[in-house]
Amino acid sequence: MISHIKNAYSKAVEKIKYMTFSTRYKQNLSFINYPEQVIINTIDKCNLACIFCPLGQKMYKPTIETMDFSTFQIVFNKILFVKWIGFFNWGEPFLNPHLFDMIWLAKKNHKHTVVHSNFSLQRNSLFFNKIIFSELDELNISCNGASQKSYEKYHINGNFKLVVSNMKKLRNLQKKYKKESPKIIWKFLVHRYNEHELVYAQHLAKSLDIELKFDFFRLGEDLPDMHRKFGNLKNKIKQWLPRKNIDFIHQVYRKNKLYPLFDKPCPFLFSMFIINTDGSIFPCCYVSEPSTAFGNLITDSFNKMWNNHMYQYSRSIFKNNNYRSPKVYTICEKCKNYTKL
Ligand code: SF4
Repeated sequence: MISHIKNAYSKAVEKIKYMTFSTRYKQNLSFINYPEQVIINTIDKCNLACIFCPLGQKMYKPTIETMDFSTFQIVFNKILFVKWIGFFNWGEPFLNPHLFDMIWLAKKNHKHTVVHSNFSLQRNSLFFNKIIFSELDELNISCNGASQKSYEKYHINGNFKLVVSNMKKLRNLQKKYKKESPKIIWKFLVHRYNEHELVYAQHLAKSLDIELKFDFFRLGEDLPDMHRKFGNLKNKIKQWLPRKNIDFIHQVYRKNKLYPLFDKPCPFLFSMFIINTDGSIFPCCYVSEPSTAFGNLITDSFNKMWNNHMYQYSRSIFKNNNYRSPKVYTICEKCKNYTKL
């Protein structure tokens, strides 16, 4: 009889413990694991003026154009837990004179590193050697076209021949030194003006011996602080989306109702973050206006920033609506990309 009572008692205690834990988990919006991925925007400057790029179209004014190495060191030392670092956002990363030092520091600390570049840059052989010997893991080259005519429709001021010649130089050097890294990927977004060049692009990529990835072209409708500035959606669809290769029309443009773009909660608030040139933090790469920042890693610890009211409130929109602290406004309130509760 006594053992029966003891068993019932310990089961009740366990149940209370579980209920307390689960209630705390649901209510405590700061009870979130640290993210493994970060994008570090080391420069808010670009040599091109691509059509749906907020920086290229001068839609926001950067606070600081170039991240210096000491700023990078400060923020890097606060995020040593991350495993994957993307050195990109809207600017051209190779215009930052400290980029190779930053990659070197990241590699020394065993991070996986990725750069996205337009690669339409006049550079000497030292530059290509630095890429090869930096131990950079992956280089994505954004080049939407296989001729100057189609390429420059989107990449205003870009030079297609220069991009191809740079890819060739880099790949040849890589072979010469028998280096595996970086993995070079030609990223080609398919739109109406380049859709007739897909086969030719495949031949060209094969002759350069690099990987080619076709992907969907987007019209800026996923940029919550900017999308209205890119004009009427119907006109953009008519002007830019492929007509023959309809498989390359993203699913978001095939629905009757555009928003929310995705039928799921926003993953970014729980799994990654963006560090801007001045150390400020954005919750995702869809936002770029400095006033939408969630905090600053120069002044705050990562823990304080990751659990601040802006993060807690924004997570609550997707998770449990249980945010009870002082009212804050965040860009996530206005954003229509993901499905809210
Ligand atoms: S809700 Fe929108 S603005 Fe907020 S983090 Fe997600 S995608 Fe970015």
